[in-house]
Amino acid sequence: MDKEEMTVNDEAQSKGLNFVEQIVSDDLKAGKNGGRLNTRFPPEPNGYLHIGHAKAICMDFGIAEKFGGTCNLRFDDTNPVKEDVEYVDSIKEDIKWLGFDWGDREYYASDYFPQLFDLAIRMIKEGKAYVDDQTSEQIAQQKGTPTVAGTNSPYRSRTPEENLDLFLRMNKGEFDEGSRVLRAKIDMASPNMHFRDPIMYRIIKTPHHRTGNTWNVYPMYDFAHGQSDYFEGVTHSICTLEFVVHRPLYEYFVKELADDSYCPRQIEFNRLNLTYTVMSKRKLLQLVKEGLVAGWDDPRMPTISGMRRRGFTPQSIRNFIDKIGYTKYEALNSISLLEHAVREDLNAVATRGMAVLNPLKLIITNYPDGQEEILEMENNPEQQDAGTHKMPFSREIFIERDDFMEEPPKKFFRLAPDKEVRLKGGYIIKCTGLKKDEAGNIEEVYCTYDPDTKSGLPGSMRKVKGTLHWVSAKHAIDATVRLYDRLFAVENPSAETDKDFRELLNPESLKVVENVKIEPFLAENAVPGKPLQFQRIGYFTADKDSEPGKLIFNRTIALKDSWEKEQKK
Ligand code: ATP
Ligand code: MG
Repeated sequence: MDKEEMTVNDEAQSKGLNFVEQIVSDDLKAGKNGGRLNTRFPPEPNGYLHIGHAKAICMDFGIAEKFGGTCNLRFDDTNPVKEDVEYVDSIKEDIKWLGFDWGDREYYASDYFPQLFDLAIRMIKEGKAYVDDQTSEQIAQQKGTPTVAGTNSPYRSRTPEENLDLFLRMNKGEFDEGSRVLRAKIDMASPNMHFRDPIMYRIIKTPHHRTGNTWNVYPMYDFAHGQSDYFEGVTHSICTLEFVVHRPLYEYFVKELADDSYCPRQIEFNRLNLTYTVMSKRKLLQLVKEGLVAGWDDPRMPTISGMRRRGFTPQSIRNFIDKIGYTKYEALNSISLLEHAVREDLNAVATRGMAVLNPLKLIITNYPDGQEEILEMENNPEQQDAGTHKMPFSREIFIERDDFMEEPPKKFFRLAPDKEVRLKGGYIIKCTGLKKDEAGNIEEVYCTYDPDTKSGLPGSMRKVKGTLHWVSAKHAIDATVRLYDRLFAVENPSAETDKDFRELLNPESLKVVENVKIEPFLAENAVPGKPLQFQRIGYFTADKDSEPGKLIFNRTIALKDSWEKEQKK
């Protein structure tokens, strides 16, 4: 096929552009907005960011990067009742951690309150807005349905003079919250419900975290968002599909300001929804407030701060979002896909060490008492230059209780009486006996080692089926480990509308394991956020609560996906 013959779509696909990138690319080629590209990420500072926001961030910042544009960070702070600087700070930290930068383009919708107020006044004077004295219930009753026209408010025909006087007094604080609103005078019979005289301003008397008591009226989302885009020179206002129905109103208000030379454009993509969790900020806030989790950054939360604390890497989150892509169709994404991306990245970057979660003492009877030696262990076999570290070996070690069976089934390739295993990075050992307490629990296991089988020596090439991780008892350091599982016990908590979502929480989502034995190297690497692999167990990172002498590790994720299997049991 001739290059010229390719359709736009073919060309897009061959370049691997998603549909939003295609629109942006076309607009840039057509020279729209003077060839500028400016996007924005517009969080409301009423909660911490979650993985859904990460999808929006990757789009808004990513597309600007890709096409040489800029992306603004704009706090959509139009509701002082729910917003707080704690959220502003956390949002900034999370975006930076994901690897994006807004430079000096940090804006607040509240910066535009004066311009928005002026626009409202102009619209009142032009007969395009009126003050309605009805309660929100009355207004809702008059809305009609998509097929039945609404009814006009009895206050709809007020004169501009009266409306202006009332609106100014609303802002002076003369009226109670909820007693009056300013509405756009559009069309109570419009097939688009958002056109049925939408509310532009409501009275709120709670002080605002940035503007204090300056205002007593606050703009609604629909009256603030498009105009804020316009004031900032945003060219492509990319959001999620639930805003499709708001788009005509977005355009209606923007037209009050824009001309032919520049007009922001709204484009919508599908939200990220994940199995076994919820994404609603309202619900997440409830979990935090009611103490059902240990805060917004609880490692079980779908928040970016929770995932960071748990040990997810920014790269794994970005890889996951890349993989699921952007479409026009709502979907429920499997959390397994995210976990796969996390494992894949951690496998490449995590530093290896040994830890025994459920220790069983093993004594090597032919290893001289008091002797010890240092073994060289690979830090990361996936990386050429990751180097090695030193790990002490001695007569008494800990192995995982599960790795020993007195009467093993046929296919048990770990340690059992008279059987041989390899100690990872050490020697081949053979079990010669064991000791039980009065209740019949195994207390100690006895083995002999073969000095010729030391890792690296020719004798180590001998074939044995099992390899165990271990820690020298004398050198082991105690730690606590927190094992996390999915926050909810059901795949789609939001779909179970007959139940309170809190009843659907997974009671097994956190298990704390004390008295874990770790090699000294892991203790040295107990740095929150530093990815570690406890060999044969999983990926871990130190928790922010961890301190020398009281080490705490979060399990980021198990080595393999055992969930599906366990569900089928
Ligand atoms: P709410 O409006 O209920 O407080 P929100 O999740 O929409 O919550 P915002 O702070 O308004 O929160 O969201 C900021 C941006 O992130 C918006 O552009 C929104 O479309 C996008 N966003 C929010 N949730 C998701 C999601 N699950 N997937 C993709 N984008 C999302
Ligand atoms: Mg929102």
